[in-house]
Amino acid sequence: MSTRLLINGELVAGDGDSHAIVNPATALIISQVRESSFEQVDAAVRAAAEAFEHFSLTSPAHRSSLLLSIADLIEANGQQLAELESLDVGKPWPSAYNDELPLIVDTFRFFAGAIRTMTGSAAGEYVPGHTSMIRRDPLGPVAAITPWNYPLMMAAWKIAAGLAAGCTVVLKPSEITPLSTLYLAELLASVLPKGALNVIHGRGATVGDRLIHAAEIEVIAITGSPATGMAAMRAAAQTLKHVHLELGGKAPVIVFDDADIPSVAKTLRGASFFNAGQDCAQPCRVLAHDSVYDALVAAVASEVAEIKVGAQRALGTEMGPLVSAAHRDRVAGFVERARGTAEIVLGGAVGDAPGYFYTPTVIANVDNDAEIAESEVFGPVVTISRFSDVSDAIRIANSGRYGLASSVWTRDVGTAMSVTKRLRYGFTWVNAHGVATPEMPWAAMRGSGTGSDMSVYALNAYTAVRHVMVSHT
Ligand code: NAD
Repeated sequence: MSTRLLINGELVAGDGDSHAIVNPATALIISQVRESSFEQVDAAVRAAAEAFEHFSLTSPAHRSSLLLSIADLIEANGQQLAELESLDVGKPWPSAYNDELPLIVDTFRFFAGAIRTMTGSAAGEYVPGHTSMIRRDPLGPVAAITPWNYPLMMAAWKIAAGLAAGCTVVLKPSEITPLSTLYLAELLASVLPKGALNVIHGRGATVGDRLIHAAEIEVIAITGSPATGMAAMRAAAQTLKHVHLELGGKAPVIVFDDADIPSVAKTLRGASFFNAGQDCAQPCRVLAHDSVYDALVAAVASEVAEIKVGAQRALGTEMGPLVSAAHRDRVAGFVERARGTAEIVLGGAVGDAPGYFYTPTVIANVDNDAEIAESEVFGPVVTISRFSDVSDAIRIANSGRYGLASSVWTRDVGTAMSVTKRLRYGFTWVNAHGVATPEMPWAAMRGSGTGSDMSVYALNAYTAVRHVMVSHT
């Protein structure tokens, strides 16, 4: 198991404090990992800045072939990467290997192709005797900071787009779940030019803070909580950097009276409890039309009751533990505070020790302005509340600050189109929830962030639009 950092092409041990990395299913220590010292953070930033001088000038074809090599390496080492991911986060092994890894590999392959099609606009002679052209050029070294829920996937989204664009990257994974990212660093050390990718490790308030304030960093790209997004914006305001944020979510699921109820219930079983609900797009705030409310609550409860909770490798495990005791207690706190006013239809209990398990939970008769209906719980908890007409549904769905994922369930294409138009969310599924593909943007609005990961739109975060005018009078 690698616990080394990647700085300027060298794999080195951290010089900072040592932290225990814990298996959430057993509460046992898997590994001790040393953080980067501030000197190591600074060295990684310097390396990225020096490497940018030549990496930014490489051709798209060159960077494309690097990304294809990365994809091949990840695929070839997929078993080990998925094993680390599943051990560290607590997710079932099949989720890490069968569901997440192919998307991670495909993200690198997608950006390998996308960068070869990226062009500025065609040249034009807007001033007689002067031909203008638009260039899209890389912005500079990127501070990429990732969360603990999908460590490898979030690293892939940022590294693939950043390197494709011609930026160099200093990546800091979450201090809670660094293992797959550190192993990825070891794999990539041999294929990438030195300094193009640097991987450091440590807590957000210390190592992360040092990184985002570094003078040579031009782009701060963070996936994390709204509080961390605000810290990034404050840092960027002091040093005038570009900021790319993918933050929290509270996805509404609007179920109309003509929806296919068994299909909604089946989808929620899969998507709401995938990764134990620790997912920014988790369908967690279900709004059901009065006429189908009771049927939906019954259908969801009966699907969710069948979810098998267990350790990563236990046969048939659908849902693992939460990532830490602190996070499990936070989730339990939300449910306890809801108990007086809402109906706990299923679950609502801390699972068996020693792991950090929590039972899949369905809560009905939730007031739309209750804490549990509005806050990001980030756990295996789904609330179901009522609406009476379309405007009511849209008003409730658009309340609150989040604007990431949403879904609409109806057989009527007119209803689907008019509701999706009025939802203030970066993405909306119709009669589905949670299906992702690298071609399409993972787009954030309002309090959920700025810009998109994945798709050609992600390249906007890492490139500047530049004008070059050539005089030929
Ligand atoms: P977090 O904000 O606590 O941490 C995210 C990362 O930011 C970590 O690496 C952390 O060390 C770092 N960090 C924290 N404070 C920092 C600071 N002051 N300066 C620099 N770096 C700092 O989030 P988390 O608990 O790891 O992840 C859960 C959150 O991430 C949830 O809100 C979830 O919705 C969100 N998320 C969003 C998406 C998306 O695509 N929008 C995807 C996954 C997770």
